[in-house]
This record gives sequence, structure tokens and C-alpha cells, in this order.
Amino acid sequence: MSAQQIDAFVAGMDADRRKSVHASTKVTHERRTALLREWFKDADALRKRAGAIKQHLLENLDHYLPAAEEKLIANGAKVHWTSDAADACETVRKIMEERGARRMVKAKTMVSEEIGLTPFLEKHGMEALETDLGEFIVQIDGDHPSHIVRPIIHKNRREIARSFEQHGLGAYDDDPQVITRRARAHLRRKFLEADVSLSGANFLSAESGRLVVVTNEGNSRFCMAAAPCHIVLVGIEKLVPRDSDLGLFLNLLARSATAQPLTVYTEFITGPRGEGRPDGPEELHVVFVDNGRSEILAGDCREILRCIRCGACMNVCPVYRQASGHAYRSVYPGPLGAVLSPLLAGERFPELADLPKASSLCGACNEVCPVDIPLPDLLLRLRDRGYREGAAQAKAGTPSLGAWAWLATHPGAWRAALSAANAGRFVSMDWIPIPALRAWTRTRTLPMPAGGKFRRWLASRKEAS
Ligand code: SF4
Repeated sequence: MSAQQIDAFVAGMDADRRKSVHASTKVTHERRTALLREWFKDADALRKRAGAIKQHLLENLDHYLPAAEEKLIANGAKVHWTSDAADACETVRKIMEERGARRMVKAKTMVSEEIGLTPFLEKHGMEALETDLGEFIVQIDGDHPSHIVRPIIHKNRREIARSFEQHGLGAYDDDPQVITRRARAHLRRKFLEADVSLSGANFLSAESGRLVVVTNEGNSRFCMAAAPCHIVLVGIEKLVPRDSDLGLFLNLLARSATAQPLTVYTEFITGPRGEGRPDGPEELHVVFVDNGRSEILAGDCREILRCIRCGACMNVCPVYRQASGHAYRSVYPGPLGAVLSPLLAGERFPELADLPKASSLCGACNEVCPVDIPLPDLLLRLRDRGYREGAAQAKAGTPSLGAWAWLATHPGAWRAALSAANAGRFVSMDWIPIPALRAWTRTRTLPMPAGGKFRRWLASRKEAS
């Protein structure tokens, strides 16, 4: 039985890093819970409603996607459909190429991480600079985000100050205000030099074609204000049916993600600059990304596509709190990633088949999810799939159930085991010959076996009938 990869990662993890991830996720989770209670009588009903709206959307995507496309075109945007990561990257490259563009500024987008856009563009001699502070730090460090909302949850200010010094952004100073000021000065120049900007979209209304982007730093606004061409990368599941749904989703997203009543900057993009729209980019491109989503939609884990990328499931997950995001070896960590990453991996599913086991199945992720995704159920379905497909990763670190299966299918042996368990009630735990079990029971009390009453009850019913 080889160890699970996530256990090996945790074993080698820096203790301070673990403590800070744990503390920070715990605080955000507690604030989120308090805020929802303070503002809503029945927050649970709201998240169930949001889940039902997203599920309805997913089941009618064939209607809503063309409706959104029609509105986007009518609003002046150019729409592109892409099937996989390579197609999406190439589409963005072509848009840049056609404009003779070399420099891109990016607002935070998980889809661009998912498709590997930045390294792709760099390979083609184009610059793609992250402008969200956390993502910028991760980029200059050659690192990866470890949380979908707070990408540098695994870093402290001393590390950041050192890396700023290394990259010529000023002498060592770990005062957060100094760090922020330096990043701002550097990025302002980059905004002005950019030929193209790119963002994701948190939501897209199929009714109006309105794109919604939320940030806390206002960087997406800077991106769009300065660059003449803006590209929006959007997963095909990011739609909501109507404008009036946005109020519900924006309220839930901000509270679930950062425990704020509303994100600081909420932008509604209707189209490029034009009549009645004096501001914004001259050109707006919307690139729809499938990249495995259609297949997920056709499978038995489609509920995961309701996800609005709030990160609440990570903040509450006991495994994420101990392991942090990098342990999940993929762009999406935590309970979301344990489901989504193996599904998006397509044929590489077996490589990530251990991730669905990175859960105690406590159910906390489902309870906090603002769109009520039954994450524990999906994790179980994927564990089952891993086993059925014989993925080695699905079996790694899992004790064999062979002995149990044999016992459960041999009534005589089963009865003998029950009798032995009954007799065990009178044996002191100190006599157990297995040291690990002895240590475990020193601080825990095992429940007493019920004493075979059920079997006697069943036998008496059979006699009576
Ligand atoms: S699965 Fe739910 S809780 Fe987790 S990131 Fe997605 S919407 Fe948020």
C-alpha cells in the first residue's frame, strides 16, 4: 500500500505555512458564516435557490448559449467558440496577432490558468502580465496559485519582500503598504503600455449578453480602460439565465469568497466603446471555452459545473487546511478541485484519481457551497469510477477490503467474529497486541457491540411468520 501523494506532500510541508493556511481559511470561513447569518434569515434557502437556477441553466445550456451569443453580437462583441485548451490559447494568440499586439495585461482568470495561456503566449514571444496583486507575485516567483480566491495564501510578507527585491522592485521592505505601492507603480506603467487586456467573467447573462467581472483591486477596470482591445475568456457554464439572477449570485459570491457584503469592484460589460458607451475598449472579444465541460455535462458529476469559484469549500475543508492548494497538483484545489480536476483531465483521469480520496466526507463543503453542490456525493462517484477503471492512484494508500468482504460473505465466520467482538467487551484495551490501536484507544472509547440483538430479533420474526 503506497502512500497517497497528498499525504506525502503534507509530510514535507513547512509547519509555519500550514499554520498560516489553517488560520487564514478558518477566519474567512467564520466571517462568512457570521455575515450570512447577519444579513439573511434563511441563507440556506438562498443557496438552494442559486443551485436550482444553475442546475436549470446546465440542463438547458443548448438554449442559453445561443441566446447569449446572439445578445453579445448584437452588443458589438465578437464571439469565438473553442473546444479545448490548445484551441482557446490559439484563438487568443490569433486575436493578438491580427492586431500586431505583443503585450497583454490580465485580470485574474482561473480559465486562463486552466488552459495554460501565459506560458503559451510567452512561447510565441508575447507578454502576458498578471495584474491581480496575488497573481502578479505568483508570476514573478514562477510559482502557482494555491487558492482560487487568494492565490498567495501560502506566502508571507517576508517572502514577498524578498522576491520584490530579487526582481528589481525595490530594496527589501516587508511593510504590506510599501509592497502594495511598489506593485501599483510597476503595474500602472504596464497598463498604459498594453496592447490587449484579458479577463475572465464571473457571470454572463444570457438574457442581455451582459458580462460581470468582480475584483477587489479594480485591476480589471484598469485593464479595460487602458487597452484598446479586451478579451473575455469564459467557461461555457458561467451563464445565468436572466439579469435579475445576478443580484442573488453577486450577494452569495462576495460573502462566500471573501466575507464581504459585495466585492469592491463589480463591473457590468455590455459591449465595446460605441454610441451611448463612451468608455472602454474599442474591440471586445468573448472566447467561450469548453475544454472538457461538455463531457462533464454528459456524465454523472455534472453538478460540479454549477460552481461559481468562491473558494468557500476550500476554507472549510479539513484536508485543504492541512495540505494547502499545491498538494492537489492542479489549478483547482480543495473539494472543488478534487472533483473538477480529475474530470477536466479527460484521458489523464487516472493520474488524478487519488484526489477524490482527499476528503473525510464530513459534508462541510456541501453545507457552505453557495450553489449547493453535493460535493461528498460527487467525490464518492469519482472514487467508484477510479476503482472501476483500475486506476493505480485510486487504490494508493487505501487498505484492502478483501478480508472484510470475505468475512461478510461467510455467515459462519461472520457469526464467530461477532461473538469475538462481544467477548471483547470484557477485555481491557491495554491487552490489544497492536501498538497503534492501543494508542488510538487510549484517548477514545469504543462503542460497545450491541450484543447480537438484531440477529435474535430477525430470527424470532422468521419463526413467528
Ligand atoms: S464548489 Fe461551491 S463552495 Fe467550492 S468553489 Fe465552487 S461554488 Fe464555491
